[in-house]
Amino acid sequence: MRSPLDLLATDGLIDEDDRDIRDTVRRFVDDRVRPHVADWYESGRIPARDLARELGSLGVLGMHLEGYGCAGTSATAYGLACMELEAGDSGLRSLVSVQGSLAMYAIWKHGSEEQKQEWLPRMATGEAIGCFGLTEPDFGSNPADMRTRAVRDGDDWVLNGTKMWITNGSVADVAVVWAQTPERIRGFVVPTDTPGFSAPEITRKVSLRASVTSELVLEDVRLPGSAVLPEVAGLSGPLSCLDEARYGIVFGALGAGRDCLETAIAYSREREIFDRPLAAFQLTQAKLADMGVELGKGMLLALHIGRLKDAGTLRPEQVSVGKLNNVREAIGIARESRTILGAAGITLEYPIMRHANNLESVLTYEGTSEVHQLVIGRELTGEAAFR
Ligand SMILES: Cc1cc2nc3c(=O)[nH]c(=O)nc-3n(C[C@H](O)[C@H](O)[C@H](O)COP(=O)(O)OP(=O)(O)OC[C@H]3O[C@@H](n4cnc5c(N)ncnc54)[C@H](O)[C@@H]3O)c2cc1C
Repeated sequence: MRSPLDLLATDGLIDEDDRDIRDTVRRFVDDRVRPHVADWYESGRIPARDLARELGSLGVLGMHLEGYGCAGTSATAYGLACMELEAGDSGLRSLVSVQGSLAMYAIWKHGSEEQKQEWLPRMATGEAIGCFGLTEPDFGSNPADMRTRAVRDGDDWVLNGTKMWITNGSVADVAVVWAQTPERIRGFVVPTDTPGFSAPEITRKVSLRASVTSELVLEDVRLPGSAVLPEVAGLSGPLSCLDEARYGIVFGALGAGRDCLETAIAYSREREIFDRPLAAFQLTQAKLADMGVELGKGMLLALHIGRLKDAGTLRPEQVSVGKLNNVREAIGIARESRTILGAAGITLEYPIMRHANNLESVLTYEGTSEVHQLVIGRELTGEAAFR
């Protein structure tokens, strides 16, 4: 049966195989995540290791990559999986995005055969967790100026520096760390039990509480020459990975938005105000209609971007259009949905405020809205206005 939320019948634009994958992930989220996620969020603790293994069994870790135990699905299927995961919680989608699109993709795309064999099969099953260290305390939107340094010492590399806001950091078995070398920025595959590596967890977050966020501290971390990602040098390395993760967010954010709107519609039909359901008031319907329109438009945009990615023609500025629009609209939907629930909307009894708070992080990571505006602005004008 068609969901009333599928106003534009976008379901019909999705292949049957991709729909099956989406429905499998949706069932996993309903059974395994929804019953617990408010508690994980409230306590700021998630069973990351158990979840990683379960997500590995489900086949979603690095699902759009080929070989090395990865499922090799379409990019659209990966996007739809991100949507369902984020309908559960942005923290869950973050775990999967960082594992598959950042850590695994970096090794898959830029790594040596030895690095791929060592890490990818274990990461695909969730036996090993990865993180991706680019951001530093003083360099977020401008990673080119990073201070983390890697220098040669004989055949070895020695790394020093601090990374900040790193998803999965404290639970990771392997960190892909980007560092400035005497020549260019390079990526390093760092087992997290290497002496000199530590990952203190960042606490007191009020957003993405069901996600591990950490600092990475590298103090004379000595690695063999084979630890460098051999196939890439310069900022294009990390940026190629960010494009992958941003792609997942184009779909993911809509999942959070959809969950908010579904909750608001259900609540407005139940809640009686002035002797009528809240849903029967024109002002409420105007809000719901505007949200339904944005969700439908966002879905069309996401599916279009998915098709471009499957065709191999997707450009970074197109990902920026998707990330900018869909996160901005999802956060708008979350805020408007919250008003429909009144006071009840501020509690963890309902998912809306949790999604709204999470989306504040989603708005900022993987390129802030302003950075994506600048990417689109450069495309439109030919003028780079970043600095
Ligand atoms: C929960 C969470 C998880 C994260 N996980 C990871 C991770 O796994 N790995 C990782 O490497 N990083 C991660 N990040 C970091 C994230 O990518 C950065 O926060 C982001 O790039 C922004 O950097 P910043 O926070 O230092 O903000 P800043 O770069 O200091 O930006 C501050 C403000 O200035 C604006 N701004 C920047 N440049 C311009 C400009 N040219 N013109 C106008 N305005 C501008 C920004 O848009 C923003 O509004 C995570 C962040 C969060 C919140």
